Amino acid sequence: MPCQSSEELKALVEEARKCTKNGRVADYIPALGKANPNELSIAIYYPDGRCISAGDIEEKITLQSISKVISLALVLMDRGPDYVFERVGMEPTGDPFNSIAKLETTTPAKPLNPMINAGALVVTHMIKGNTVEERFQRLLSFVQEMANDSTVSYCEEVARSEFETANLNRALCYFLKEHKIINEDVEQLLDLYTKQCAIEMNCLSLARIGMVIGMDGVDPLTGKQVLPTDIARICKTFMVTCGMYNASGEFAIEIGIPAKSGVSGGIMGAVPGRFGIGIFGPALDEKGNSIAGIKLLELLSKNYKLSMF
Ligand code: GLU
Repeated sequence: MPCQSSEELKALVEEARKCTKNGRVADYIPALGKANPNELSIAIYYPDGRCISAGDIEEKITLQSISKVISLALVLMDRGPDYVFERVGMEPTGDPFNSIAKLETTTPAKPLNPMINAGALVVTHMIKGNTVEERFQRLLSFVQEMANDSTVSYCEEVARSEFETANLNRALCYFLKEHKIINEDVEQLLDLYTKQCAIEMNCLSLARIGMVIGMDGVDPLTGKQVLPTDIARICKTFMVTCGMYNASGEFAIEIGIPAKSGVSGGIMGAVPGRFGIGIFGPALDEKGNSIAGIKLLELLSKNYKLSMF
């Protein structure tokens, strides 16, 4: 066991919380701007069912970019890697998550990976179903299965707030449509994508999903293979290479845990074969990662030797 008790975890949270004053809450999605910048909470889920936590772990957060790992897993299961990777690449970009730059210089205009917005929009486009509602329900059911929690839902206010202001993502969609990477109605795709990003849960459920990915797709508490081993492997690899935006290289060196962050301040960690981590700390650094969340992971990784490398 790396960290034995919630008490130990609380001390690390208080140490890491000092960093929140150097970060800023994302407000380009207006509803996210309401978050309390001093907030910091964490849950760790172990395969034996033990769960330790610190901070206000009942607080719900929207997944934002963390959802990109789950939508990728779903479309890989639905359509297989060949189909998916014909339409979205496997390489990190080194650019901010919402950049359009590489789409213009790459031919064909296939997004470089599924963790940047352009790539995630293509992935969401591939979710099967006849209507937005049907596609969203399939994704939501899959999230519920991974979290083993049928009450997980989405925050309508955050979804609407993003939908109304998502002009950069609209631009990415029109660019992708012009280059025939996607072919559906842009408003419809954005409706689905913003609902996906607004799926919300607490740190415990986030940690549970991290555990399932870390345990090669098996939920050790139910014995169920929630996603195939090979797809869990692909998810973990993208989390290492592209999960922490254009800070993924430094994060891999300093911390060494497959992780995915979102602009809501969430971070999901999947320590291979060991446990899952769910963090919420809405004050972000300049790259869009939870500033205190990263500090907390750094403390955990150093204190308990968690780096996989
Ligand atoms: N919904 C957000 C967007 O597309 C997700 C970005 C993120 O969490 O990195 O801008």
